[in-house]
Amino acid sequence: MPANFKAELVGCFGQPVAENPTGAMQEAAFRALGLNWRYLTVEVSPERLRDALSGVRAFGMKGINLTIPHKVAVIEHLDEIAPDAAIIGAVNTVRRDGDRLIGENTDGKGFLRGVRTDAGVDPRNKRVVVLGAGGAARAIVTELALAGASDVLVLNRSLSRGEQMVAGLVSKTKAPIRFEPWRGTYKVAGDTDVLVNATSIGLYPDLDSVPPVDLRDAQPGLLVSDVVFNPPETRLIRAARQRGLPVLDGLSMLVYQGAIGFELWTGQKAPEAAMKVALRQALGVD
Ligand code: NDP
Repeated sequence: MPANFKAELVGCFGQPVAENPTGAMQEAAFRALGLNWRYLTVEVSPERLRDALSGVRAFGMKGINLTIPHKVAVIEHLDEIAPDAAIIGAVNTVRRDGDRLIGENTDGKGFLRGVRTDAGVDPRNKRVVVLGAGGAARAIVTELALAGASDVLVLNRSLSRGEQMVAGLVSKTKAPIRFEPWRGTYKVAGDTDVLVNATSIGLYPDLDSVPPVDLRDAQPGLLVSDVVFNPPETRLIRAARQRGLPVLDGLSMLVYQGAIGFELWTGQKAPEAAMKVALRQALGVD
């Protein structure tokens, strides 16, 4: 076989981007499967996003992740948007199909893979409470709705943001999604199957904060999950653990959204175990 020194390229565009740990996880996956691929973590300003996407095309890159502030702005530069990413209205992963750049959103799908794989829960016909109405919440609520959850209650501090998100998603999915303003402490009902903190409450350095929820009426099988991955052991996760409830931390979503991206780019099953180890090391969790 002739020698092949050409690496395939993927990466991430964001600003700021230096603290994004995804590269460590994807590079570990490439090594685990012996792939000559590189993941480039690149600082791109909003004014340069168009040029950066031209670079993706010119370099024949296999794909790219988008993070703050590019997840919505990238859409106008792409050739196609996957149906769920179109509903969410944001793209975190671009994949190449021939000459076409296609926008995907793996955040909500990553969350669901964690719910199924790590927590062993099938979201179909489940009653879910989602705290928050930002980008992460939007992706999670969309995928929960598409996966057949029977009731998705969104709670948000800001009334207008929550109402607008839910009205938009209901009109696009016709799914059973409801909104309630989040005032004071929310008492989680005994028939709730999954609670998701999709706010940034508890995110470093805000370590002492905990979403105001009361778990006293929770059923023993309530799955308590948190999207915050820094630190993975948030106060909410700790409180749920102390009650003996099953928990799912934010590292799960982070690994699986990357694993799904890896699979979209390479067409191969992601080496999830190697990715988890690399991510934990990169974040200094172990
Ligand atoms: P956004 O800024 O889009 O949304 C933030 C949400 O948190 C809003 O709903 C906001 O409510 C709510 N919120 C923030 N502070 C408070 C507070 N003190 N009390 C009540 N509500 C509050 O952020 P994202 O959705 O992009 O990110 C949210 C979290 O998800 C971050 O911690 C991020 O790191 C994490 N994340 C994790 C991922 C993973 O793979 N694990 C992937 C993506 C994100 P309001 O509208 O009232 O302001």
